[in-house]
Amino acid sequence: MNAVYHLHGDLSQLLRHRWRERQPIVAPVTRIASIKDMLESFGLPHTEIDRIACNGRTINFSHRVEAGQQFDIYPIPSPWDLTTPTLLRPDPLQSLRFIVDVNVGRLARYLRMAGFDTRYDSSWDDQRILREIAADRSILLTRNLDLLKRNQVEFGRYIRATEPVSQLREMLMLLGRVMLPKTLSRCLECNALLLPVSKQAILHRLEPLTIQYFETFSRCPRCNKIYWAGSHVDRMQQSLQAALG
Ligand SMILES: [Zn+2]
Repeated sequence: MNAVYHLHGDLSQLLRHRWRERQPIVAPVTRIASIKDMLESFGLPHTEIDRIACNGRTINFSHRVEAGQQFDIYPIPSPWDLTTPTLLRPDPLQSLRFIVDVNVGRLARYLRMAGFDTRYDSSWDDQRILREIAADRSILLTRNLDLLKRNQVEFGRYIRATEPVSQLREMLMLLGRVMLPKTLSRCLECNALLLPVSKQAILHRLEPLTIQYFETFSRCPRCNKIYWAGSHVDRMQQSLQAALG
């Protein structure tokens, strides 16, 4: 006897290859398993799912799959609401904080440029990332589907796009934000919030042309990097605005 799984939106694209073309999935119930286990056995990480219905009734991840049941599986909608409790995620987030793994590492700088709290360290392996998430409930952004299946990962996103600008666009669309903030607020190198600094205090670190043309500066309190309108960061932001349309 079978159970039937209807995957909505682009969720079927995240399945293991042999399941990808079969919609809906019709599979025999051969063991005692939760809906979360069944969906992950098809390749779909729990983090990608917003809501599951069984025969039309909303259920949670621990629901036991039985023969004859029909499931509808819905993706995270835009705008992504992380702060309201749901049946699948009864303990929502108080604030937005991302952690980025090494296979989408370049996205970290773009998210920081857009003002998002984004932690990234190219030396962190999967175990270290899972420890960080357990400590502070960061939202994991990755292109590693297996990492998203881990139980420690409550909130996460499989980044569909492969280029950093497209990846940022994907995140802004998902979060329901179409514009970037105008001024830079966060250090691109280390994620700390920038502080204003007087020109006089950093004069010795500036090139003559920068001294001549710019008056307003910010400094990173952690790594000491200096930012100003007209720096490469500003040009990066302009080209990004153009790319985002
Ligand atoms: Zn810094």
